[in-house]
Amino acid sequence: MTASIIDGKVIAERVREQVRQAVARMQEDYGYTPGLATVLVGENPASTTYVRSKRKTCEELGIRSVGSELPADATQQQVEHLVAALNADPAVNGILVQLPLPKHLDEEAVLNSISLEKDVDGFHPVNIGRLAMKGRDPLFIPCTPYGCIVLLEESGIPIRGAEAVIVGRSNIVGLPVAMLLQKRDATVTICHSRTRDLAEHVRRADIVIAAIGQTEMITGDMIKPGAAVIDVGINQKPDPTAKRGYRLVGDVDFESVKEVAGAITPVPGGVGPMTIAMLMKNTLRAAEIALAKRDR
Ligand code: NDP
Repeated sequence: MTASIIDGKVIAERVREQVRQAVARMQEDYGYTPGLATVLVGENPASTTYVRSKRKTCEELGIRSVGSELPADATQQQVEHLVAALNADPAVNGILVQLPLPKHLDEEAVLNSISLEKDVDGFHPVNIGRLAMKGRDPLFIPCTPYGCIVLLEESGIPIRGAEAVIVGRSNIVGLPVAMLLQKRDATVTICHSRTRDLAEHVRRADIVIAAIGQTEMITGDMIKPGAAVIDVGINQKPDPTAKRGYRLVGDVDFESVKEVAGAITPVPGGVGPMTIAMLMKNTLRAAEIALAKRDR
């Protein structure tokens, strides 16, 4: 069997197009433009690139983008002051603090200081708490996990009743994706670095989500025939033939897994493009919430 490829670029463009149209309607009907504020502390090259592409996507979709930059030695108070100002700014619907923050800053306190209704990254503890609770829904779903679910749904992969195995339990990917799958009635197993016999768990899965940060760790012999495999990992693999001396690969060994799986996301071009698309969708939602309040 050769797996069908889940094309994240195509699905992300579909999401972006929906957002673009909804933003245009909001402008036309209410004269209201959604706004996203990005907060970048320091000059981490990866963070700078991420923020730039988030701001560019905002512009493409008609969302106002407000960029704030602080030096790498900014104090906790400076960062929280900035967040407070953005919380109070009615032109800002969503606030995205680019992680990781420099080590001397208390990341948790900064995330807690973001207004719940502007938490478009979905990392506020109240949002995560609602995600974990039965019968409750968060205002915003964290973007990468949300993207994984949309990839499955748009590819027609059944989630209800499916055995889902998530490898990785981080706050930003593994744990929220597990909670989302459970909310959609999958039977969920979460594996991590202390899991005994990882392969045995993964082999039972109808849906595998790999969010590990380990180059091509999930191999074809670990996959149940026909399973859907979502590869969140982004790793640099040395490659002397590549211009940069490396190429990007996932946590899944694409070549061996595609021979066994029913569906698989590539890296790049799978989960990656979804993350920004879902951020745009969350920003639109934040604007809808603000608009509903304004017109009440
Ligand atoms: P973390 O390092 O925070 O978490 C990794 C998880 O994998 C941990 O739970 C860890 O277990 C587990 N793990 C590590 N080694 C093993 C192992 N040998 N066997 C089983 N489990 C293991 O990473 P993130 O969740 O932040 O990111 C995961 C990957 O996803 C990275 O490659 C990252 O670059 C990528 N990523 C991609 C995004 C996108 O937009 N496509 C967005 C965010 C991340 P333990 O808890 O026991 O330490």
